[in-house]
Amino acid sequence: MPVSVAIVGSGPAGFYTAAALADSVDDVQIDIIERLAAPYGLVRDGVSPDHQTTKNICRKFEKTAMLESVRYFGNVDIGRDVKLAELREIYDAVVLAVGAPQDRALDIPGTDKAGVIGAASFVYWYNGHPDYRNIAPDLDVSAAAVIGVGNVAMDIARMLCLSEAELAATDLPEYAETAINESPLTDVYMLGRRGAADAKFTNVELRELAGMDECTPVVRTEQLPDGVEGDYSDRDKRLRERNLETLWEYSVLDADAKSKRIHLEFNASPVEILGQDRVEGIRLERTKVEDGRAVGTGEFFDIPCGLVVAAIGYHGAPIEGAPFDEKRGIIPNEDGRVGEGLYAAGWIKRGPTGVISSNRPDGVSVAEHLRDDFSDGGNKPGRQAFKTMLQDRNIRAVSFEDWKKIEAAELAGAEGSRPRKKFVVIEDMLAVLD
Ligand SMILES: Cc1cc2nc3c(=O)[nH]c(=O)nc-3n(C[C@H](O)[C@H](O)[C@H](O)COP(=O)(O)OP(=O)(O)OC[C@H]3O[C@@H](n4cnc5c(N)ncnc54)[C@H](O)[C@@H]3O)c2cc1C
Repeated sequence: MPVSVAIVGSGPAGFYTAAALADSVDDVQIDIIERLAAPYGLVRDGVSPDHQTTKNICRKFEKTAMLESVRYFGNVDIGRDVKLAELREIYDAVVLAVGAPQDRALDIPGTDKAGVIGAASFVYWYNGHPDYRNIAPDLDVSAAAVIGVGNVAMDIARMLCLSEAELAATDLPEYAETAINESPLTDVYMLGRRGAADAKFTNVELRELAGMDECTPVVRTEQLPDGVEGDYSDRDKRLRERNLETLWEYSVLDADAKSKRIHLEFNASPVEILGQDRVEGIRLERTKVEDGRAVGTGEFFDIPCGLVVAAIGYHGAPIEGAPFDEKRGIIPNEDGRVGEGLYAAGWIKRGPTGVISSNRPDGVSVAEHLRDDFSDGGNKPGRQAFKTMLQDRNIRAVSFEDWKKIEAAELAGAEGSRPRKKFVVIEDMLAVLD
C-alpha cells in the first residue's frame, strides 16, 4: 500500500516537503491541506506586494501540486474542520507545516492603545489575507514608527511610502491601496535597538530605499561607526560592511529632496507608547552595545507618531493534538520528528527565521525520515477516507484545478500594470467555481 501523507499548510515548507517526498519515497500519496482557499502561505500573504518576482517561486510549487501523487485540499482548517487526531487516524504520516502566523508580543506599557499593531497583522492586511482584510489600521497620521530593522520592518516602511504609481504596479487590494494613497503620512521612523552595523535587513532591501519615487532614506552620520568591529565570520562582516557603506551614502542625502522620509534610527530601545486612548508618540531609551547586547544609557527621547507597527518577530500558534513550546512558539521536534507518524517542517519546526528557500532542507529531512519510517509501505487509507470525511461534514474543499480557475479570475481582473486583482474574501473565490 502507498504511504499516505497529509501535509498541513501550503506555504514553502509544505510544498518543499511534498516535492522531496515525491522524489524520494517510491509509492506515496501526498495531500496538501490548507485552511485558506489560496495556496502558498506567506509567499502570497507575506512577501511584499511590490516584490512580485519573489513570488515567481509559486510556479515551482505549482509543478509540485500537479504531480500525479499530489493533491491540494484548500479551504480545510485542521483544528476547526478536521481534528489533528482524526487526520492521524486515517493517514500514515502527518506533516505540520503551519508556519508562525502571530506577532511576538511587544512588552512595553501602552501597547493597548489604538494605533499600535503587529507586523504580522499589518502585512496580512495589506496583502489581502481574508482574516485581516477588515482590521482597517488608521493611516490618517503624519508620522509612523516601525519597531525593528529587519526585512519585514523595511517592507512595511517602504509600503507606507510608495507613490501612487508604484502602488499601482502591485497586487495590493483596493482598500489598502486607497488607505495608503489617501494617508497624509510623510515620515516613517525605523527603530533598531542595536547599532547601525547590527541591522538585520539585507543590502538589497536597504538599497531599494534610494530608488523610491517620493521617499528619501534619512540617516544621521553621528549614528554611523567607521567600520565593523566584533568577532564575525568573513561573510557576516562583509554583509555588515556593505550595509554600513550604503548607510554612509544615505547620510549625505538631502532629507527634503522628496516629500516623504524613512528615518533609520539606531541605538534606540522602545520603552513606552505615549498618548491617551490613541498613540501620540513613542518613548525610546538611547542604548549602547556592550558584549554584543544593547544596554540602556539612561537617556530618553520621544518621537511623535500616530501609528506604531511592531516588527520584532513572528511566533507560532498551537495546534490541538500536537505538543507546543509556548516560549519558542514552535512544535518541539527532533530534526522534524514530533511523534509517531507526526512531523514538522518550516517556521513551526525551526522558528520564524530565514528566507523561502531556507524551508527546503526541512522538507528534505522529513522525506528522509518518512522513507526510513515507512520502508515497508503504508497501511492507512489516507486520501479516500479524507474525502469521505469532508463530504460527510459538508466541507467544500478547493482542489488545485479549482485554485487555477480562481487564479485565472484574479489575473483577468487585473487592470493596468497590476499583476492580479486578489480576492480577499473566501466566498468570492468559491463563487468563481459556481
Ligand atoms: C512579511 C514577510 C515577508 C517575507 N518576505 C520574504 C521575501 O521577500 N523573500 C523570502 O525569501 N522570504 C520572505 N519571507 C520569509 C518566508 O515567507 C518564510 O520563510 C516562509 O513563508 C515560511 O514558510 P512556512 O511554510 O513555514 O510558513 P507559511 O508560509 O506561513 O505557510 C503556512 C501555511 O499553513 C497554513 N495553515 C496554518 N494553520 C493551518 C491549519 N490549522 N490548517 C490548514 N492550514 C494551515 C497557512 O494558512 C499557510 O498557508 C517573508 C516573511 C514575512 C513574514
